[in-house]
Amino acid sequence: SALPGGVPARVIVDLDAIAHNVGVLQQHAGDAMVMAVVKGDAYGHGLVPSARAALRGGAHWLGVAQLQEALALRGAGVTAPVLSWLHAPGMDFTQAITADIDLGVPAVWEIDAIAAAARETGKTARVQLKVDTGLARNGAFGPDWPLLVDAARRHVADGTIAVTGVFTHFAFADAPHHPSVQAQQVRFADAVRDCERAGFDLEVRHMSNSAATLTTPQAAFDMVRPGLAVYGLSPVPDIGGPSRFGLVPAMTVTANVTVTKRVPIGQGVSYGHTYVTPRETTLIDVPCGYADGVPRAASSKGPVQVGGRQFTVAGRVCMDQFVVDVGDLPVQAGDEVVLFGNGANGEPMAQDWAAATDTISYEIVARMSSRLPRIYL
Ligand code: PLP
Repeated sequence: SALPGGVPARVIVDLDAIAHNVGVLQQHAGDAMVMAVVKGDAYGHGLVPSARAALRGGAHWLGVAQLQEALALRGAGVTAPVLSWLHAPGMDFTQAITADIDLGVPAVWEIDAIAAAARETGKTARVQLKVDTGLARNGAFGPDWPLLVDAARRHVADGTIAVTGVFTHFAFADAPHHPSVQAQQVRFADAVRDCERAGFDLEVRHMSNSAATLTTPQAAFDMVRPGLAVYGLSPVPDIGGPSRFGLVPAMTVTANVTVTKRVPIGQGVSYGHTYVTPRETTLIDVPCGYADGVPRAASSKGPVQVGGRQFTVAGRVCMDQFVVDVGDLPVQAGDEVVLFGNGANGEPMAQDWAAATDTISYEIVARMSSRLPRIYL
């Protein structure tokens, strides 16, 4: 039968798994709502189909980093509430205001720019204030926080801005016993009080990413904001893999063998011959490489499944392909190689690729490139 997508390698996305995972997260969230984070092309899974699956699974809100992601959701007809939280000076906020996108705001320059855009569109902008409670990243920190609240109060008074929410982000959610997890909750509760005292009509208060949703339920406030776990990956691999939390990994990456060859002992393999065959053996060529998002750091380390058995990448990962030494396993051109999947059939998982390449599973899935077509189940 024809290969899916007419290409030698692909990303297969199980949308039911995404819907299921949102249900699992909702159970942990209790009465709080779930915002499914779909930034970064839904962590590589595909923005619009993943967003729709998350909504089908019960997500109330969608979260993105960039405005263009939020506008793409609206362009596809998604009407659910959307929060976008990473903007730079010079950006045009008028479209976002017209499209009813909530804007996460960490700085006075931004709330002023949004207020100006609101004046231009003749519509009140929906804004959620982002307070930095200890991550020291994007968010109003220390003395900048009361300045932001003051600026927001002025714009609320003149009708350009409605402050619909307040939020923050954890530094150590994947280490639930780290003292900063508690300290950030205390600082966030203070920031919520600042907003309430300022008279803002808050709809949502939120701080929990996937790890906090699963391990620190007392931090849920009105809403949790998980990303990674929506896609079925464990945000706390030290505690357990996806199944420990009832999550099902949604992404599977497969490729079809292009060429097999029998080679003698002592044959150097791929660029630089960093792998040398220890015996006469069969090599297979797998047609995906670092241009597809397969990390070059997986050279001689990445695990794959062929014919129901696991092997390791032999030698360097190239731009479009890599080689696997399958010993005496009978493999033919066209046979399927699984790089990673949900683990149900013994195949490696994204977290195994992450461990092999000294990174996190976020990076493994999010960097799968657009050259690999997304096939939706
Ligand atoms: N909220 C914000 C502000 C984020 O930047 C992210 C992603 O890093 C998330 C939520 C989701 O985090 P996670 O994928 O760890 O659940």
